Amino acid sequence: MMEESKLLEKLPLKQHLGNIRRVMKLITSLDRSYVPWNAVSILLSAVISYGGMILSAYVLNRIAGEFAFAELFQKVILGVVLLSLGWSVLSILNRRINVKSQMIAEKYLALQQEKIMNMDFSMIDSPRLKELQERIRLENNWGAGIFTVFWCGKGVLESLVRIIGAVVIGIPMISYFQREDMGWLWAVLLLLLLMLGIGLKLYRYFQNMSHYVMFHVPTAEEKKFLWNYVWDFAYGSWHYRYGNGKDVRIYNSYDVMKKWTFDKLQNKDFFKYAVRRPGIGDAGMSGIQTALYVLSQTGAYGIVIMAALKGSMPVGSLILYADCLANIMIQAVYVVTACLELCMAARKQVGILELLELSDEMYKGSLPLEKRSDNQYHIEFRNVFFKYPGSEEYALKNFSLKFKVGERLAIVGRNGSGKTTMIKLLCRLYDPDEGEILVNGVNIKKFRHDEYSKLFSVVFQDYKLFSLMLAENIAADKDYDGEKVRRCLADAGFEERLEKLGEKGIESFLYKDYTDEGVEISGGEAQKLAIARAIYKEAPFVLLDEPTAALDPIAEAEIYGNFDKIAGDKTAIYISHRLSSCRFCDKIAVFDHGELVQTGSHEELLAEEGGVYASLWNAQAKYYEAG
Ligand code: ADP
Repeated sequence: MMEESKLLEKLPLKQHLGNIRRVMKLITSLDRSYVPWNAVSILLSAVISYGGMILSAYVLNRIAGEFAFAELFQKVILGVVLLSLGWSVLSILNRRINVKSQMIAEKYLALQQEKIMNMDFSMIDSPRLKELQERIRLENNWGAGIFTVFWCGKGVLESLVRIIGAVVIGIPMISYFQREDMGWLWAVLLLLLLMLGIGLKLYRYFQNMSHYVMFHVPTAEEKKFLWNYVWDFAYGSWHYRYGNGKDVRIYNSYDVMKKWTFDKLQNKDFFKYAVRRPGIGDAGMSGIQTALYVLSQTGAYGIVIMAALKGSMPVGSLILYADCLANIMIQAVYVVTACLELCMAARKQVGILELLELSDEMYKGSLPLEKRSDNQYHIEFRNVFFKYPGSEEYALKNFSLKFKVGERLAIVGRNGSGKTTMIKLLCRLYDPDEGEILVNGVNIKKFRHDEYSKLFSVVFQDYKLFSLMLAENIAADKDYDGEKVRRCLADAGFEERLEKLGEKGIESFLYKDYTDEGVEISGGEAQKLAIARAIYKEAPFVLLDEPTAALDPIAEAEIYGNFDKIAGDKTAIYISHRLSSCRFCDKIAVFDHGELVQTGSHEELLAEEGGVYASLWNAQAKYYEAG
């Protein structure tokens, strides 16, 4: 079920203000000087533009009367120089602000990524987070994200400052009006206000319409289309990445890919639907804004000219006051429309704010892990039941198992029987729904998470290496012990390849994301690096999920030959499909449909006739014999 956007629901003003405050607080926390710099820029730009208006009015008033040319000329030159200087300073300031805006937007993105990186792993594929991400994607579909909040917020302040400036400059105008019969003036002003009110109501109506398509696309499929999920699915990433798309070529699957990508773009009905209503909305907003602009300006000039005709207003003042009044009216329109846009822009960020404020759900214990020099850790799974978030099926059912440091445990079983799940639970990537996992008799939830995770070195089946330096990958840290990195690489069978890397050696970058000189490695080499990383950590438990699947037979033999040495007095848990490579383990646990169905040594298990192990073994033995 996809999270529906709530953007078009009416919200009380208090909540709008709350949203704006939350976004502004976040912006300030990302860059303390951003708001003050903007305030200076707004003030300076108002002073300069009103300064220009006052200078022109002064010159026109003087020209209309008797004046000394040289003196006026000097003043004009001084004024123009000051104004030009002001504009230059403002441009420098605005460049600074623009760069800051860009940095804030990047930091904002980094904050979201950091949050995702640090949150409980179990939350990442939880329906709750998926719904939230869905909402964020929809709500930020169009527009410039947090930038829109800056622009609208700045627009509101700019207009307010200009209104205040115009009121201050226009104060002497009141004495002209006071000489007049004020009745007609009030009538015109009231009319203008009424017009403003109606205009803004219409603006709001069109504003909602312009957001229509993003949030009320008729079917989930159309939503997916909007978000180009299919591109992710077809190419592995929204951005082009080399290495993707091999399968498309080999299987000639362009047509089916196009069905879900390009062909959807040809869907005229969808285009019409997506374009018409928001198009009318956009047109409506611009139309209303222009109409209000023209009417305000005409009204303002009309009022001042009428007043001037009846009295004796100098021409320069006439223009100045007309400009002031027009400015007040026009900026009033801008203030309100920008406020509406600001509310909408801040509202669109609420999903992201909620993401940033999500608190972890897993219980984080405070018990320090008992640091044992003898590394005597016992692990016990006691009647553990576990379902993945959002899944109906148990991935592990009533699972109980004990093992202790120094043992070699192999886990075998068909695909999907729960082997990897057991490893994930042991590492506390997820918590069991029922039952408990104990380390030396203490429920693992009670331990401090950071200390507990130091117990395990894991090579997952879908391990990831990063586009960083080789040494940083192995140490998983920015500080590393070069000698130790080299030793671990040698133990994992990467020595020969390391020599080929030349001078840079362990400082070579993996992949080409950061540098063109980055090295590309084969699947088997990558697996060796993942194993080297696990060795480097020197944790008491080494967990290997299909550790040799991508290795060639010689490398595999080397790893197994070395492994007793590498694992030393540590506990090693292997998951393997190749039963022949599990024979050397002290204990073998056989999984079937989420349950532990057998445990024992190879010989014991083979002796259990009709058991899962014997059937798996016999099935594989056939291949070996055939080979
Ligand atoms: P194995 O390692 O034995 O091949 P797993 O432990 O990976 O099996 O998976 C056990 C079951 O849990 C499978 O049926 C699999 O489809 C399901 N499963 C694995 N990961 C997830 C997940 N993230 N969300 C939902 N179900 C999952």
